[in-house]
Amino acid sequence: MKSLYIYIIVALLIIPVKSHAFDDFWGQTGHRVVGKVADAYLSGKTKREVKRLLKRQSLAFVSTFADEIKSDKRYNEFYTWHYINMPLDENYENSKKNSKGDLVTGIEYCKKIIVDDNASDDDKAFYLKLLIHLIGDLHQPMHIGLEEDRGGNDFKVKWHYEDSNMHRVWDSEMIEKYDMTYTELADNADVLSKKQVKAIQEGSVIDWVNETHQLTKKIYASAKPDENLRYRYSYNHFNTVRSQLQIAGIRLAKVLNELF
Ligand SMILES: [Zn+2]
Repeated sequence: MKSLYIYIIVALLIIPVKSHAFDDFWGQTGHRVVGKVADAYLSGKTKREVKRLLKRQSLAFVSTFADEIKSDKRYNEFYTWHYINMPLDENYENSKKNSKGDLVTGIEYCKKIIVDDNASDDDKAFYLKLLIHLIGDLHQPMHIGLEEDRGGNDFKVKWHYEDSNMHRVWDSEMIEKYDMTYTELADNADVLSKKQVKAIQEGSVIDWVNETHQLTKKIYASAKPDENLRYRYSYNHFNTVRSQLQIAGIRLAKVLNELF
């Protein structure tokens, strides 16, 4: 009987962690890198306003909030905001839209509340946290994946001999394997000229979706179902991960500087 209790307790401890891992989006580390990169590109005014609304918590700290509330039913309406599903050869403008909302409509809604004079500071803070997260998700190519495999969640592969899927490989497996903290990854981002930063910040949210989607196409062609992905995969693709995190941070700063 005693061993049964121990079994149940251990099972209860393990199961929530396991099932959550399958539903991860840019893992926590990825989102925090985006927040930390953005810090360096915020204007003084934006920094002050963001600090006030977030009660001095950092962008990196709040960047995972939108995933943390996902298992809370009260926030179900935001679930579809984390992704877009569309065929590989379509662009956002021509694709069929999710009537429950998607990354683009979610980001627009957050922006609307943040600049609304009638919105409370609490509401503004809530949508600011979501916005910080969603700009990150927008740059994870598998968040703009196919509907039929749920953005690569059903595209099963092995990651170093363990069961995984393409969504997870791009969300977190490559990043975790590299084993650097979010601060180290952000501090070691590529050095960019002002001109390069400016070029990255050009365009609209929809342009950025279509740009990320070009990578999605390549990623779908980068592995076969059930393939055992190992070091070679990271050699070929981890720089894309690093670059996408940096681009997301730089664009997040642009979006925030325009709002405040
Ligand atoms: Zn997300």
